[in-house]
Amino acid sequence: MLWSSGFIYVNLLLIINHSITMTTNTLPDFTNKNTTIMFDNYSYTAAERLMRYVQTDTQSDPKSTSFPSTEKQKDLSAILVNELQELGITDAHMDEYGYVYASLPSNTDKQVPVICFCAHVDTAPDCSGAGVKPLLHRNYDGNDIILPDDTTQVISTSDHPYLKHKIGEDIITASGTTLLGADDKAGVAVIMDLVNYLQLHPEVKHGTIKILFTPDEEVGRGVDKADIKKLGADFAYTLDGGEIGSIEDENFSADGVTVTFYGISAHPGSARGKLVNALKVAAYFISSLPKDELSPETTEERYGFVHPLHIDGIAEKVSVQFIIRDFITAKLEAYENFLRDKVESALAEFPGAKADFVVKEQYRNMKEVLDLHPQVVAHAREAMERAGIQPITTGIRGGTDGSRLSFMGLPCPNIFTGEMALHGKHEYVSVQDMQKSMQTLVYLLQVWEEKS
Ligand SMILES: [Zn+2]
Repeated sequence: MLWSSGFIYVNLLLIINHSITMTTNTLPDFTNKNTTIMFDNYSYTAAERLMRYVQTDTQSDPKSTSFPSTEKQKDLSAILVNELQELGITDAHMDEYGYVYASLPSNTDKQVPVICFCAHVDTAPDCSGAGVKPLLHRNYDGNDIILPDDTTQVISTSDHPYLKHKIGEDIITASGTTLLGADDKAGVAVIMDLVNYLQLHPEVKHGTIKILFTPDEEVGRGVDKADIKKLGADFAYTLDGGEIGSIEDENFSADGVTVTFYGISAHPGSARGKLVNALKVAAYFISSLPKDELSPETTEERYGFVHPLHIDGIAEKVSVQFIIRDFITAKLEAYENFLRDKVESALAEFPGAKADFVVKEQYRNMKEVLDLHPQVVAHAREAMERAGIQPITTGIRGGTDGSRLSFMGLPCPNIFTGEMALHGKHEYVSVQDMQKSMQTLVYLLQVWEEKS
C-alpha cells in the first residue's frame, strides 16, 4: 500500500491478500432504529471487492461477433463463481457465454416470489479498462480530485455536483488513464456483499434469491443469451443505477428508422433534365428537420426526439438512419409520421426522386410491464425508506438490460449503487452509497417476505 498525497494506491497483491481494511465513516442519521441494530457490527465488503474487481479488465467490444464479445470478461465471472462458492453458494457456476448463475435458498415457510439481483461484469468500450488503479479518497474534503497518473484529469464539484453531497464520505476513483469500472462492478460488489451479509445473518428471513451476472451489457447484448427459464425468478432488480435513492422504473421506447432516397443517374456531361441527385434530396430533407425541438441536443427529461445519426450514399442512392425515442410508445408513431411528411416534401422538390421508409422496433419502456406489477417498485421504495433513504423514482433516457428483461417476462427496475460519471476517466463511487445500496437489498428481501 503506497500513500501519495492523500490517495491510497492499491497494490494488486495486497488486495488479493485482503489486507485492505476499510474504515467506515459514521453514516447519516437513520430514521429507522433497525438500521443501526442490523448493520452496526457488520464489516462491509463492497468497497474492497470493487477495488479488486476493477483490476480485472472486462471491456466489451461492439465490433466483435463472438459471445461474449471479449473472452476476458469470463476472467471476472470465474473469480465471482469462486467467491460465491467460498461463501457457501454451492450451485454458483458460469455458463459457456460467461453468465454467472447462483441461488440462495429460502429460509422461510412462507411462499415468497423468487427475487433476482442482476449486475453486469463488462465495462464500456468508450474508455480503456486495462490496468485500472483504484484509489480510495478517505473522508472526502470537497476539493477537486486531481488524478495522479494524468494530472490534467480533475474531478471537480462544478462538473460533478453530486460530489458536493459526498463530503465526509470515502470516494473511489481511477488514477487518470482509465475508467474506474464502477459501472457496473459497484453493482457486482454490492450483490456479493449482500451474499456475504446474508450468510452471516441467517435471522434475516427471505424467499429464494437468484443472482445473475451478465457480460456485454455495454454493447447492448447483455441479455441475448440469458436463460430466463433456468434462472427461474419471478421479479428482478438490476444494480446499475447512480445517485443514492434512485430507482429507475422507466426508459425510452425506441425505434430505428432508415430513409433511403433514390435519384436518377445520368452522365453529368449530358444530364440536363434527366439526372436527379439523391444527395441533394437527402440534404434538403435533413435541413428541413427541427433544430430547437425533437432533437437530443435541445431536449431533456421527458421529451423525446427524432435523431439522424448516420448518412451514407452516392448521387444515385442515399440512406439516412434515425433513432426515434420517447417515454410514451404511442408518440413514436407520431414522430415517424412527422418524418414521412418531411420525406414527401423533399420528394416534391425533386421530381423523379423516390424514397423507402423502414421502421424497426428496438425496445420499449419497461414501465408498461412494471405497472402490471406495482409491488416491485413499491417494495423497493419501502426498503429505501427503512434504510433511511429518500427514494427517487426516475426514468432513463436510453435502454437498459432491465427493460429487455421486463419484456422477456422478468419485470426488472434498476436500483442505485452510487456509480457516477460513467464511461470516462472521471468515474467515481462513494463507499457509503454502496453500503446503503446493500442495506436496501436486505430490507427489500424482508419486505417481500413480510408481505407474502
Ligand atoms: Zn452499467
